Amino acid sequence: MNENYLFFVDPSLPEDVKNSCKVAQRMLEKCRQWIPEDAKFRGTTHTGAFICSRIEERLTEYRSGERNKIVVTGYYDSKTSAIGETTQLGYRVNLAKKLAIQERVGNSVHEIMHLLGYTHSFFWTPWRKNTVPYAVGYMARDKSYNYIKEVL
Ligand SMILES: [Zn+2]
Repeated sequence: MNENYLFFVDPSLPEDVKNSCKVAQRMLEKCRQWIPEDAKFRGTTHTGAFICSRIEERLTEYRSGERNKIVVTGYYDSKTSAIGETTQLGYRVNLAKKLAIQERVGNSVHEIMHLLGYTHSFFWTPWRKNTVPYAVGYMARDKSYNYIKEVL
């Protein structure tokens, strides 16, 4: 297992959330394996290949210590459909939602796309699922099985 250079995870968080961070780091390192280079997204002209190059640049900055680790914390809110949200230091996950690890991995990747500057509307729209945070998060969720086996 590689060292964790990307996340500072609140130690009191449940194991599945901690594990999802390990898997998310590995998946981002290997983003070219699961983000199609010609993938197109709503709201940006950036292709899958371009997004991968941004991910790789960003990982290099975290690895060198040029950027502080992404701080992952938790909160409880059972009255919302949100499963996480970006914060100034990283993101936090909604622990009121019981989710499979695949969903947690997808959520980590979704939040990291926000940290890379990609956005989406707050309210549901027919195309929101095609924005970078949603689309790449769903790809990560759907392709996570082998990485979960590899990392955990
Ligand atoms: Zn979002």
